[in-house]
Amino acid sequence: MVSFSAFASINYYQKIFIPFYTKKGELRIAIRQFLSNKNVYFLVVDPYQYVTSIVKADQLYPRNPAKDSDREPGYFAWEKIKETPYIKDLLHFTAYPGYLENAGLTHAIKKTKGFFLTVDMCPSIKPIEKDFFRQLVAVGKNRKIPFPVAIAMSGLWMLNHMREFTWLLQMQKENKLNITWVNHSFSHMYFKDLPSGKNFLLFFQTDLENEILTTELLLLNHKQLPSVFVRFPGLIADKPVMQTMQHCGLIPLGSDAWLDRDQHPKDGSIILVHGNGNEPIGIEKAMVYLKNTHIIWLPIEKALH
Ligand SMILES: [Zn+2]
Repeated sequence: MVSFSAFASINYYQKIFIPFYTKKGELRIAIRQFLSNKNVYFLVVDPYQYVTSIVKADQLYPRNPAKDSDREPGYFAWEKIKETPYIKDLLHFTAYPGYLENAGLTHAIKKTKGFFLTVDMCPSIKPIEKDFFRQLVAVGKNRKIPFPVAIAMSGLWMLNHMREFTWLLQMQKENKLNITWVNHSFSHMYFKDLPSGKNFLLFFQTDLENEILTTELLLLNHKQLPSVFVRFPGLIADKPVMQTMQHCGLIPLGSDAWLDRDQHPKDGSIILVHGNGNEPIGIEKAMVYLKNTHIIWLPIEKALH
C-alpha cells in the first residue's frame, strides 16, 4: 500500500481485472490501473475483507512468489478465486434479477444486530444536511468510535459543493466519521419527464464506464479511496448496467429501509437517506434512530461478511 503523497497526478485511469499475489502470497484483485510520475499503480481489492488500497505495480506478482518456483510455477486457479467472498458476492449481486429497481445488496447477508447507514449525495442545488452529519459526529464521539457511514457520492454534487465536501473530508481526517465512499455515478442523469426504464443510467446517451471512473478519479484526486460499492441513481439498473458493474468490479448497494418512503429498518437493514437536502423527512426519521442509544451502527462492509 502506498500513501497518497506518493503520486502527484493520475493519468490513464482505466478499469482492469487482474488477480495478483503480494510478496507473502496473499491474493489481491486489481480493478483499476493508472499512471503517475511514470509509475503504474493499481487500485486493488482484498477479496476476503472487501477493502481497497493503492499499490505500486511492482509490489504485486502475477505468479505466487510464496510458492517454490522450482516445483510449481504458481499459477492462479479460477476455481479458487471465484470462491473468495468478494468475487462470489460480485458475481451474485451483479446478476440481473429481472426487475429494474433496488437490485443488489439490500440487507445484511448474515444475521446481524445493528443498522447500516447509507447517505446518497445526488446532484442538488440545496445545501448539505449539516445538522444530520453533525449528529453522526456526535454519536461517534459519545461512543468513542468514528461513525461508520457509507456515502454514495455523485461527481456533480461534489463539484458543486466543494466546501461541504471538504468538511466531510475533514471529519474523516479527524477520525470523527468512518466514511466508505460508494460510487453514485458522475452525472446522476435524471429527467423529470422520462420513465425509470429510460432514465438515470438507462438514459440512451449514458457512457457507463465514464460515469463510474470519473467519480473515482475525483475521489482519488482528493486522496480518498473508492470502495467496491456502487449505488445506482434512483436504484435503477437493467441487465447491461449490471454487467458493466460486474466488469468494473462493483457490488450494487440497494436498500430495504428508504426512510423517506416510509420503510422501517430492522436488524441488518441498509438504511437509505439523502444528505443533499432533497429528502428532509427521511433525515428527520434518521435523526430519531440516531438519538436512540441502543442502536448499533455498522460499516457497510460488514453487511457482506
Ligand atoms: Zn441519487
